[in-house]
Amino acid sequence: MLNMVKGVAIITVSDTCFKDNSKDASGPCLAELARELFPKANLHTIIIPDEKEIIEKELKYFCDSNLDLVLTTGGTGLSFRDVTPEATKAVIHREVPAIPIAITVESLKKTPMAMLSRSVCGVRDKTLIINFPGSKKAVIECFEVVRSVLPHAISLINNELAEVRTIHDSLQFGHSCPNLSSVDVSKVALRPRESPFPMLEMAEAWKIVDSVMSQWKERLEIIPIEDGVGRVVAQSLHAKEPMPPFPASMKDGYACMSMDGAGVRQVRSALGAGDAPTAPLLSGQCARVNTGAALPAGADCVVQVEDTRLVSATEDGQTELEVEMLVAPTPQQDVRPVGFDIPMGTVLANKGDVLDSALIGLLAGAGYQNVAVRAHPKVALLSTGNELQEPSESKLRPAHIRDSNRTMLKTLLREHGYDSIDCGIARDTPDALVAAVSEALRRADVLVCTGGVSMGERDLLKPVLLKDFGATLHFGRVRMKPGKPTTFATCQFEGKTKYIFALPGNPVSAYVCSLVFVVRALRVSAGRAAEWARLRVRLARAAALDARPQYARAALRAVVGDDLPAAIVLGDQCSSRLLSACGTQVLLELAGRTDSTPRLPAGTVLSALVVGRLDLAYN
Ligand code: AMP
Ligand code: MG
Repeated sequence: MLNMVKGVAIITVSDTCFKDNSKDASGPCLAELARELFPKANLHTIIIPDEKEIIEKELKYFCDSNLDLVLTTGGTGLSFRDVTPEATKAVIHREVPAIPIAITVESLKKTPMAMLSRSVCGVRDKTLIINFPGSKKAVIECFEVVRSVLPHAISLINNELAEVRTIHDSLQFGHSCPNLSSVDVSKVALRPRESPFPMLEMAEAWKIVDSVMSQWKERLEIIPIEDGVGRVVAQSLHAKEPMPPFPASMKDGYACMSMDGAGVRQVRSALGAGDAPTAPLLSGQCARVNTGAALPAGADCVVQVEDTRLVSATEDGQTELEVEMLVAPTPQQDVRPVGFDIPMGTVLANKGDVLDSALIGLLAGAGYQNVAVRAHPKVALLSTGNELQEPSESKLRPAHIRDSNRTMLKTLLREHGYDSIDCGIARDTPDALVAAVSEALRRADVLVCTGGVSMGERDLLKPVLLKDFGATLHFGRVRMKPGKPTTFATCQFEGKTKYIFALPGNPVSAYVCSLVFVVRALRVSAGRAAEWARLRVRLARAAALDARPQYARAALRAVVGDDLPAAIVLGDQCSSRLLSACGTQVLLELAGRTDSTPRLPAGTVLSALVVGRLDLAYN
């Protein structure tokens, strides 16, 4: 389908860009996004003024040239020159109102200004036309909203339903239609009784995750600095102005000339922080200044108030007339010269730096409102299981449980700085899984699903991924507890590589595996260090070891007289028992049991992954 998109036109509608095409930022950006999505299509770009007739003429021209898609940028606002929506309405035969609605809904999450966009979308003959706003940032955000539906929409407009099916099939390596699975579940007695997947050691599994995820193509997005905590800076940022921008006093005192030495000065004026000095200082004069005030021209030092004596004042005591400098000041004494804190051009942040509140404050002080950061992959969360029902349902049906994994994983990812898309619950049938996985892959880059990867006859995810999606299973078993059947796969879907973590359904396994695999993978794709920080901790109580290396959930306590914290394992470590994960600060890396070491005595020093907040209850 992607290859069949023959032509795309990008029309920048802007009086300003029409006069000076170097000002067009949104058009080239939109062109790049379109080229990325439809690499084989012919791309046409033009810049036209905000003239309804010209816009109509160009839209008709491109539609009549049998292009599949025309994207406009600009002219959708409320200014009287903004007429792109009117021109679009005049040429389309059928409106597609839900596309602008979807764009508006998403954009409103970012800015209330989205209410002021009047974008239109519709079809003329066999061409889809979509209006985008005129800013580069808005174009990137809005394109992201429509990206996943564009190929499908174009196929539907071209009445290529049969082809959509064939193309889906071919994209999935010759396997069946995405709505119908080719996995046969009828012969339950013949299912394998042993997993065919080799058991990988953790180190090998991590290596695979890191190397596969580092293939994620680096993209950047521009976000308001306030939303930037934890994000990775995509382009180095420089100081556009010096800080301070004027010579500033470091003390409350008197600005004067150092060459006047010690002695009496006439007090000329008072300058508070924020007051702009008017006249230059003359020899023998001083100006009362507060910390942060700008020095008047001529002043080259500040004498702090503690080093002065009042000589004379007006009778009402409201005005100082003369003060004596008790100590001879030196040039630049208690003055922050221009650029003292940050010289102009200083690198404020390097590409790859992680934004924290101090850096964000620095950027705010330097006049930055937005920042380019590494885009995160889109993550979809899907639960699988016939027994699951929505947590919000009031009554539990017989033999059912509420789905806890999706809510847990959504909040766990958010805690670590990643948003996710909720893709609901899929039933354990091959067809239902194919439909749910297809939908999730359409919406996201990384799919995290839970359940259905063990050895039961209803554990169908692995065969579905293999047979129906032509996925490469990088691993399907890991020597770890909890989380043995953890599966990591990639597949091509609608022309893009998708990354799939299929985690066991037991809530504790899902929790631990999300931390040790999914968060790690997202960090690698965001350009951050993959590894969790490790701490040396002392085991508070003796612990029995499992045959497999175990990630025991533990909280930390400070112990008087010991420089290592004590690690308290959080109760029964059964993998269904989410209570054993509540309050987790660290995951203890317990080695597998050996004949000589079946258990670890209290006091054993261990390595622990810092996955929770240490500032909470670490006492
Ligand atoms: P599975 O991995 O599908 O074999 O499921 C293992 C166990 O985890 C079963 O007891 C399931 O009922 C439970 N389980 C699976 N998915 C969820 C979920 N989303 N929320 C809570 N428990 C689940
Ligand atoms: Mg299940």
